[in-house]
Amino acid sequence: MDLSGQPHTALFLVVPRLGLRELLSVAQVCVSLRDAVDKDVLPWLDIMVGDILCRRLSGEMLLKLTAKAEGKVRSLGLSNCIKISEEALLAVVIGNPNIETLNLTGCTGLTPEGVIKVAEALSKQGSGLRCLKIDGIYDLHEGHLQTLKSLVRQEGKGNQGIDVDVCPRCHAVRKVFSCRRETCKRKGENRGKECIGCAFCIPRCVECGGCVETEEADEAEAACPDVLCLGCWSKLTKCIFCNRPYCWRHSEQQQCYSPLLRGQSGFVCEFCDSSFHDEDDDFV
Ligand SMILES: [Zn+2]
Ligand SMILES: [Zn+2]
Ligand SMILES: [Zn+2]
Ligand SMILES: [Zn+2]
Ligand SMILES: [Zn+2]
Repeated sequence: MDLSGQPHTALFLVVPRLGLRELLSVAQVCVSLRDAVDKDVLPWLDIMVGDILCRRLSGEMLLKLTAKAEGKVRSLGLSNCIKISEEALLAVVIGNPNIETLNLTGCTGLTPEGVIKVAEALSKQGSGLRCLKIDGIYDLHEGHLQTLKSLVRQEGKGNQGIDVDVCPRCHAVRKVFSCRRETCKRKGENRGKECIGCAFCIPRCVECGGCVETEEADEAEAACPDVLCLGCWSKLTKCIFCNRPYCWRHSEQQQCYSPLLRGQSGFVCEFCDSSFHDEDDDFV
């Protein structure tokens, strides 16, 4: 803010680049910023609801948010927006026929039939969906997937437009991965698609995406619940007490200032650190 109490003009320039949460907080600072946020269509074309808002976002709130784009929303990220209903989403897409990207992962308030209605509405009114994410929606079956595939534009080879597929092993509709290990790729070329399957059928290393045998997974134990292959496990830095590493997703859980380290470099995992504190409590 400058001396007159007006926000600096530079703030108005960043408005179109802000995420949804920042946009909503900026709008609360003062009237002129709220007007800047409300009257500008640009920040609302690609709406991504983040981790903090998703569990609270109701259908009514979503309608209000998307209305700011004046019918021009291009992409809508509603990952884990558990309160969103089919009616609300349908109203949003009818009002915004140009939505091409829709992320509904973990939207457990929606049914496969509801998602089909939404995709149908978009393909009737506009150019249709290009990308649809539905992993985590309950009761998805192959029939639903076939209908959705016909409603999502195919670009290039395969069905890259939808994030789930039929697992060739268990036939459930889930995220299906193909192996990235060089040795498996060669095996696959010779003997068919052996390493393709969902995470339930084939455990995979979180670091490299390669398949992991049960014995290997036992040997390559991580400090987090994720699966690692021996190759990746050996390269990662480990807890100085239990010799277990964290994967990239959980590396921030490394306790680098734990009293257990006693000045040594390295880290202690959360489990070892907390068992040390538990022992401490016993003496109190
Ligand atoms: Zn499977
Ligand atoms: Zn690996
Ligand atoms: Zn493999
Ligand atoms: Zn440990
Ligand atoms: Zn992990």
